[in-house]
Amino acid sequence: MNNIIVIGAGVAGLTASIYLGRSGLKVSVIAGDVPGGQLTKTSFVENYPGFAKPILGVDLMMQMMEQASRFGAEIIYDTVTSVTIERIVTLASGTAVAPDAILIATGCSHNKLGIPGEHEFTNKGVSWCATCDGPLYRNKKVAVVGGGNAAVMETIFLSNFASEVLLIHRRDTLRADKSEQEKIFSNSKIKCIWNSEVINIQGDSKLKSITLRNKHDRCTDMEIDGLFIAIGMHPATDFVKEVVRLDNAGYVIASETETSVPGIFVAGDVVSGSLKQAIYAAGQGALAARAIERWLGVRL
Ligand SMILES: Cc1cc2nc3c(=O)[nH]c(=O)nc-3n(C[C@H](O)[C@H](O)[C@H](O)COP(=O)(O)OP(=O)(O)OC[C@H]3O[C@@H](n4cnc5c(N)ncnc54)[C@H](O)[C@@H]3O)c2cc1C
Repeated sequence: MNNIIVIGAGVAGLTASIYLGRSGLKVSVIAGDVPGGQLTKTSFVENYPGFAKPILGVDLMMQMMEQASRFGAEIIYDTVTSVTIERIVTLASGTAVAPDAILIATGCSHNKLGIPGEHEFTNKGVSWCATCDGPLYRNKKVAVVGGGNAAVMETIFLSNFASEVLLIHRRDTLRADKSEQEKIFSNSKIKCIWNSEVINIQGDSKLKSITLRNKHDRCTDMEIDGLFIAIGMHPATDFVKEVVRLDNAGYVIASETETSVPGIFVAGDVVSGSLKQAIYAAGQGALAARAIERWLGVRL
């Protein structure tokens, strides 16, 4: 039987494992530090099809892990430390295996501000995803931190729901594309706060206010209902950076789900240019499974 190693037990890796398992292939999923992936870190998921009522992210992912196990996937609670071009996978425990195919589905993480209250109020007013949580802030006052394309796009998207959106940036100009910046400046719901950093997040059971410090070291408290942090992301690709082709930000460059190395495939948030949404990761997981089956010669 062919051996397949799926690195990552998030939506992409588990979806691929379900498809591969149902095709009768032997799959081991290395779960890393976050079995179930990023969705286990959020509260309710409202936009994953099939759930008329919001489902807790952790419940959705535990179901997905159980579903993959039902089709024979072996979940291994370990972390991959390296992969070679010859497809030798080494785990933190010291085990080394040589599978017939590898799927990289290790996702990425949002950069954090590293300030008091950030962790405490995550999912209680602090969010890293306007697409996921924006609709929860209808007619509320929200703030976005950042100055790049992602921050600007999150700000514009949030203005569809919120009564007011503050864009807080530590410099006095945005790095985002000029055309996107124009949309910010012409939108009456959006106000830019320049040369300022968020240094504290306060609240009780949920976020109530933030403290801003400007370039003159003057601090002010500001009441808001939601804070969206958009200061970049980093993909989990350190263990393959010398093996497969990566883009400048470290995401894996793929032709559909094939990497630059035959027999090593990729799916989900870790793919260069991916949508960074669960449904997209699931779709790519299914596509990767088909590509792996073709590579192994079990499907035309
Ligand atoms: C707070 C938050 C809320 C979100 N809300 C929504 C939402 O409402 N709707 C939506 O569609 N999307 C949402 N998203 C986005 C969604 O979570 C991601 O698009 C999705 O999880 C991507 O799946 P993935 O499988 O590519 O990666 P991930 O979910 O990131 O999973 C990566 C997996 O790889 C493992 N891993 C990493 N490195 C290694 C290694 N070296 N060895 C072994 N394993 C490793 C991790 O432990 C994890 O199991 C949200 C994201 C966040 C952070």
